[in-house]
Amino acid sequence: MLFPTTIAGSLPKPEWLAEPNTLWAPWRSKGDELARAKRDATMLAVKLQEDSGIDIVTEGEQARQHFVHGFLEKVEGIDFAHKVEMGIRKDRYKAMVPQVVAPLTLKGRVHADEARVARSHTTRKLKFTLPGPMTIADTVADSHYGDKVKMAFAFAELLNNEAKALQADGIDVIQFDEPAFNVFMDEVSDWGIRALERAAEGLTCTTAVHICYGYGIKANTDWKQTLGGEWRQYEDIFPAIEKSPIQQVAIECRNSKVPLDLLALLPGKVIQAGVIDVASDTVETAEDVVKVIEAVSKFVPLSNIVATTNCGMAPMRRDIAEAKLAALGAGAKLARERLG
Ligand code: ZN
Repeated sequence: MLFPTTIAGSLPKPEWLAEPNTLWAPWRSKGDELARAKRDATMLAVKLQEDSGIDIVTEGEQARQHFVHGFLEKVEGIDFAHKVEMGIRKDRYKAMVPQVVAPLTLKGRVHADEARVARSHTTRKLKFTLPGPMTIADTVADSHYGDKVKMAFAFAELLNNEAKALQADGIDVIQFDEPAFNVFMDEVSDWGIRALERAAEGLTCTTAVHICYGYGIKANTDWKQTLGGEWRQYEDIFPAIEKSPIQQVAIECRNSKVPLDLLALLPGKVIQAGVIDVASDTVETAEDVVKVIEAVSKFVPLSNIVATTNCGMAPMRRDIAEAKLAALGAGAKLARERLG
């Protein structure tokens, strides 16, 4: 089937699970009640995607407060009690981040619960997202390793353990989110891609990397205004990615200023093309989705195109996110009729 659909990863959380329309939203409950609410929300996220015609579904990242810190919470060697302010993505925004204070180890499984809940409630393919090592290294303060690369490789080893366990749970696609790749382009070919390969080492399921221009929050939309008329960051990093064994690359296409001819730099990859804008509340039509798929197909063989969202929808209004899910499913279906 052409143009299978998926989402970047996250969906908004129901208001009974966490405060709506915000990143790092506080949970509404704790203990067993929170665990139950996370499971319920995970089932709901799966169902919403199925009903919208999404082929490769995710657990909607309902069980984690943030796409990076959801992983970090299960890592030993990190001090969450003494957070420090740090500039993130070359000072695009400031955040209070935890500190690495000792050698990093995993306390146990990170995402077993939600992975198993999702797996037991859908027969569709399941994709699971993990933060990439470079992005993690740019989202915590290092008070132990004294070397960003060394710390990133320590995280890569932990990510690899969890990724292999997720594969054993029945996950079909493991996607590493590396928005930092679009910021530290030189470092990607120096070590970022090697750290990513370490995180994916030994996986036999499908592997993907998601490289976006961020959630639709103000710090990101302001940053995009400074990038000029053509966003050419991908040009610097695609050659290193093309050489890597990572199989799929998820990128931002809808309403972005990425010149799509850059996709020709990835002839050996399946492209997860972002056909839904997460930085705008305007809901796409099926025709809008077809237009992006058509534009991408000038540089990517039809059989190598997956239709997805530009980035996660965590901070979005639920009704808008649900309408966008429906547009994604309907648009891909229409594209199959037109281009198939
Ligand atoms: Zn993203």
